[in-house]
Amino acid sequence: MGAQGGRRLKVGIAIVGAGPGGLCMAKELLDAGIDDFTLLEKSAGVGGTWYANRYPGCACDIQSAVYSFTWAMKPDWTRPYATQPEILAYLEGIAETHGILPHCRFGTEVVEATWDGATATWHLGTAAGEVVEAEVVVSAVGMFRDPVPPDIEGIDTFAGTLFHSADWDHDHDLAGESVGVIGSAASAVQLVPEIATVAGRVHLFQRTANWVLPKPDAPYTEEQLGHFRSHPEVVAAMRAEIFRHLDAGMTFGDPVALAEREAAGLAAIDVVEDPTIREALRPRHPFGCKRPLFSNDYYAAFNRDNLELVTDPITRITPDGVVTADGTTRRVDTIVLATGYTTTRYVSAIDVTGRGGRRLADDWVDGPQAYLGIAVPGYPNLFMLYGPNTNNGSILTMIESQVHHIVQQVVRLRDEGLAWVDARPEPTAAYNDEVQRAIGGVAVWQADCHGYYKSRTGRIVTQWPFSMTEFARRTATVERDDFEAAPR
Ligand SMILES: Cc1cc2nc3c(=O)[nH]c(=O)nc-3n(C[C@H](O)[C@H](O)[C@H](O)COP(=O)(O)OP(=O)(O)OC[C@H]3O[C@@H](n4cnc5c(N)ncnc54)[C@H](O)[C@@H]3O)c2cc1C
Repeated sequence: MGAQGGRRLKVGIAIVGAGPGGLCMAKELLDAGIDDFTLLEKSAGVGGTWYANRYPGCACDIQSAVYSFTWAMKPDWTRPYATQPEILAYLEGIAETHGILPHCRFGTEVVEATWDGATATWHLGTAAGEVVEAEVVVSAVGMFRDPVPPDIEGIDTFAGTLFHSADWDHDHDLAGESVGVIGSAASAVQLVPEIATVAGRVHLFQRTANWVLPKPDAPYTEEQLGHFRSHPEVVAAMRAEIFRHLDAGMTFGDPVALAEREAAGLAAIDVVEDPTIREALRPRHPFGCKRPLFSNDYYAAFNRDNLELVTDPITRITPDGVVTADGTTRRVDTIVLATGYTTTRYVSAIDVTGRGGRRLADDWVDGPQAYLGIAVPGYPNLFMLYGPNTNNGSILTMIESQVHHIVQQVVRLRDEGLAWVDARPEPTAAYNDEVQRAIGGVAVWQADCHGYYKSRTGRIVTQWPFSMTEFARRTATVERDDFEAAPR
């Protein structure tokens, strides 16, 4: 491995990533009486997505009541859809309260992972040249980690300021500037209304018009917060209702509900005064084709004089501007790339070598797939959180189910003195066939909307096509026959 010669560390369980997934894994291991684990985290703090994304307006797009762990209910979110600082503080609080911080090794990026069959250990190589030996590896590297590299002619020649929404430059003052925002999906919908209030001019370059629905997001009053704090049963009942609603909508199969959502989206666009802009903002794909977006101020921002919607495709970037297909150059001081993430690499973003020297990147050449999104045949004792086909609903809820499954595997390894467990190929294939059949039945996912759900072969590799409750049911117990197990 490339890490030869560096420091060597031995841990029982290596958790790669200290976002919500890594934190949940750590907490549940501690609850199971297991404390020989280390979280290897490339950033300088916990929180994952919510540590990295600090762009103006960054917020949850589902209600915080369900974007929180069942074992860490927060009664007093200050508003229904919490913003990034509050979510990050929540996750930092969890790390602190549950004694997870001493297990964290920050500034540690894992770049390769090799299975050593002779000793039944994983050897993880870090970017700094260290080797971490672990009996079990839990990948909690997340899906929204690697910004899509911008593929625009001339971008390297741009002489102004340029950054991705996930790498916001807070030292850079946009006041009075001309700003180009490239992309009109999740992060743009949140940040454009914010920066339009400070920048001199904002040009929003839109490739695809997306559905953006209003959300009930008025901040709670002090009186309400006091009531929530003293009445946990009220908070629990609210959460149960929100969960039921979200869980029921995940299959995007109810035509009446879909039509209602589209009607609400179109009604929201009506706030835009200019008919040409209104028309350009009207989505051309069905609601649900992409993860739904929510905002109460996105469309209204287009009534500002200093926000321009540009729908002509970008052809190139010059040292001081953005050129579109119609030949127009818009001079900009700063370019914000709101272009999203490369979502379909999962743990293969790390160079993983499994049994017999097989490489995960090769096994996944047609796109990632796994048993329950958690384990891949040929890669013993390697478990994934937020793996292939587990994206939908509240990711924290989905993560809790995966963690529950993995803890059982770890306990089994220890209690039964096993060297390793490895998902069998046949049940893995059968599981994925079933998932793909169900995905094929979700009509709105088949449309073309430039989303992030598909691998380059066109297979939907990110989405879970059933409910969160169904995922919890399937992950609740380990089907022992679905795993090969080797004694120590
Ligand atoms: C702006 C934004 C808004 C979102 N809103 C919602 C929402 O409303 N609802 C919802 O359910 N989901 C939402 N998501 C999805 C969100 O990513 C997940 O809910 C959640 O953060 C997943 O947790 P995770 O721990 O699996 O991954 P992440 O939160 O992505 O954490 C992964 C961690 O692993 C670290 N890491 C990655 N690779 C390595 C490596 N090789 N070595 C060491 N460390 C590594 C990263 O630095 C990071 O800290 C949103 C995502 C984004 C980007």
